[in-house]
Amino acid sequence: MDHDNEQIVARMLHHRGATLQPGEPLGPPIVPASLYHLPGEPKAPHQYGRWTNPTWTVLEETIAVLEEAESVIFPSGMAAIAAVLCSQLRPGDRMLLPADGYYTTRSLAERTLAPMGVSVELCPTAAYDGRDLTGIRLVHVETPSNPGLDICDLGAVASRAKAAGALVVADNTTMTALGQRPLDLGADVVVASDTKALNGHSDVMFGHVASRDAALINAVRDWRKLVGAIPGPFEAWLVHRGLESLELRFERMCRNAGTIAERLAGHRCVRAVRYPGLPGHPGHAVAKRQMDRFGSMVGIELADAASADAFIDRARFVRPATSFGGMQTTAERRARWGDQVAAGYVRLSAGCEPTEALWSDIARVLGTL
Ligand code: PLP
Repeated sequence: MDHDNEQIVARMLHHRGATLQPGEPLGPPIVPASLYHLPGEPKAPHQYGRWTNPTWTVLEETIAVLEEAESVIFPSGMAAIAAVLCSQLRPGDRMLLPADGYYTTRSLAERTLAPMGVSVELCPTAAYDGRDLTGIRLVHVETPSNPGLDICDLGAVASRAKAAGALVVADNTTMTALGQRPLDLGADVVVASDTKALNGHSDVMFGHVASRDAALINAVRDWRKLVGAIPGPFEAWLVHRGLESLELRFERMCRNAGTIAERLAGHRCVRAVRYPGLPGHPGHAVAKRQMDRFGSMVGIELADAASADAFIDRARFVRPATSFGGMQTTAERRARWGDQVAAGYVRLSAGCEPTEALWSDIARVLGTL
């Protein structure tokens, strides 16, 4: 890992400041506009609201500093994922998807792309390392997988995919560029739901695509313009504001997750703990190599569904919710969505609470089970 996250974050925080004129606000303005003044030949930088917006531009440039790659923003993570899949795949193409990844990506592929002639193949994340990629056009990777937190070797998968002529798409939602940099490891494109940690305040749906491949990113931007899957300027402004504190928040979230995982391992009420930072995790060695942090999510297997529900309901500093990456710690029993996990499996997503306050609440609740 030869990148310097501290430099990247400092550059990101000062990106807008470098071009400010006297009297301009340090924070970006929100520009609600569908039409722009456009006399004569259409040469103005902004021409129509579905094509560009000045508040989007500020955010896209800031995310580009973070990702060290050109970025295109979307009104949700799924809109970002759909833009990549739909702009890149053609009838007859074969795509590989994680069998244990985010289920809506699978549903999109199976319900929309497959009927259009794309062959959708599934593979568990932990088996990606041994999977034959011959003839595959697009490899979609999600490591750690969500919700099972399995790991695959991004660099190795990307180099085998390249050799097979496949495009590598990495969903980096759970890690953000500060936890793992798939583009540096050989992925062609990153997709992310910024609804989660990048915005981090549980108040916006958002997403982005980032790539160093100019043709690919142009195709994605063109897709947005054609289908009109565009973010609102206020949402873009909120995400810019959230992004400025990403490093501080993500550091606390990962520290909380790591502390909880270590202390839960071996606890009498806990059947198993899943966390890439624990030496007992089957992907730990790879995780250590390819991740800057081990992430904010911990898988906790309790005795059964009733214990899992009791754990979540009784905790004072854990909110029952189906998403992650916000200020508050959240948790849910993933089997309630039909995920292939044990009935008592709780996906806990650590928030930004002070570590010992959060841990003492979790320890208290475990004592009641
Ligand atoms: N990718 C992952 C890993 C996710 O967990 C999610 C949402 O939970 C998405 C993509 C989709 O993002 P959104 O809900 O912002 O459309």
